[in-house]
Amino acid sequence: IKRIGVFTSGGDAPGMNAAIRAVVRTGIYYQKEVFGIMRGYEGMIEGDIVKLGARSVGNIIQRGGTILKTARSKEFRTKEGRLKAYNNLKKEGIDALVAIGGDGSFTGLHYLTEEFGIPAVCIPGTIDNDLTGTDYTIGYDTATNTAVEAIDKIRDTALSHNRLFFIEVMGRNSGYIAVNSGIAGGAAAIIIPEETMSFENLMTLLTAGEGSSKKSNLIVVAEGSKIGGATELAKKVAERSDYFDIKVTVLGHLQRGGSPTYFDRVLASKLGVAAVEGILKGQTDVMVGIRNSKIVYNSFDSIINHVHEIDQESLRIAKILSI
Ligand code: ATP
Repeated sequence: IKRIGVFTSGGDAPGMNAAIRAVVRTGIYYQKEVFGIMRGYEGMIEGDIVKLGARSVGNIIQRGGTILKTARSKEFRTKEGRLKAYNNLKKEGIDALVAIGGDGSFTGLHYLTEEFGIPAVCIPGTIDNDLTGTDYTIGYDTATNTAVEAIDKIRDTALSHNRLFFIEVMGRNSGYIAVNSGIAGGAAAIIIPEETMSFENLMTLLTAGEGSSKKSNLIVVAEGSKIGGATELAKKVAERSDYFDIKVTVLGHLQRGGSPTYFDRVLASKLGVAAVEGILKGQTDVMVGIRNSKIVYNSFDSIINHVHEIDQESLRIAKILSI
């Protein structure tokens, strides 16, 4: 392997820059050339590729977003699109790839490896923490901290007015951000896709609060909730009871931005180094991850279509502490 291509793909996540930096510098450390592919698979198809030096990734470890930009490409889902992309890689002499992204990006990479035999490793970069094969994905810690900060602020105003707040957090079909921001923010209830709390259960819980001396209630709702998002739930509760003064906050994309936490920077640095070292040792069609503080490489098949299960102990803790 002489030339490594690195790119970010799918949704952006804080810490992606730290991962790019780690990949570039590790490649150079092992005397390889490193190229940045702009806008994920879109830039690969268009041949938008730039050479990166150790200094070109200076001063980015603390920055959110991704200097390589990210995109979603329909064309890459076709064989013709992937052939175009591969020809551009060949033209630049790129003979190995590191992708930073989620399961969609990993799937695209899998097809490219299968069809053209190019060695490739995926680094999990998504705020959702929805990939099995790693305890944490890059960006999840920052996004959860952002959610907690927002919940704390909402609590101040909720308390002042005795209000019931529904706060919707991101996570796609995963409840990770919701569970942990809910525990850390002291939520009265946490609604996640993995565990079906019925609407009736929620009503029981809320009306129990009516009789207690609780001054305010914060309900954290994962965007993938099966019983409706924050707006829908608030509307349904309002229809059933006029006891509550209800407000809704959908945190949305602010969870995707901001300077990465120390945790995400270190995670991204470790995974970036491990991705390049793995590729140089012959790893391919794998995702690098961290399980129980150890670097692991897991095959495409062992990751895609598998759910990153929510830790049952976290759910138990959340319930005990919300009484
Ligand atoms: P996130 O979880 O943060 O959204 P992701 O990597 O899952 O990140 P996707 O939009 O699902 O984001 O995928 C990124 C890109 O990967 C897609 O735009 C597409 O170009 C490519 N891709 C996804 N699925 C496939 C597939 N089945 N075949 C080929 N390419 C794919």
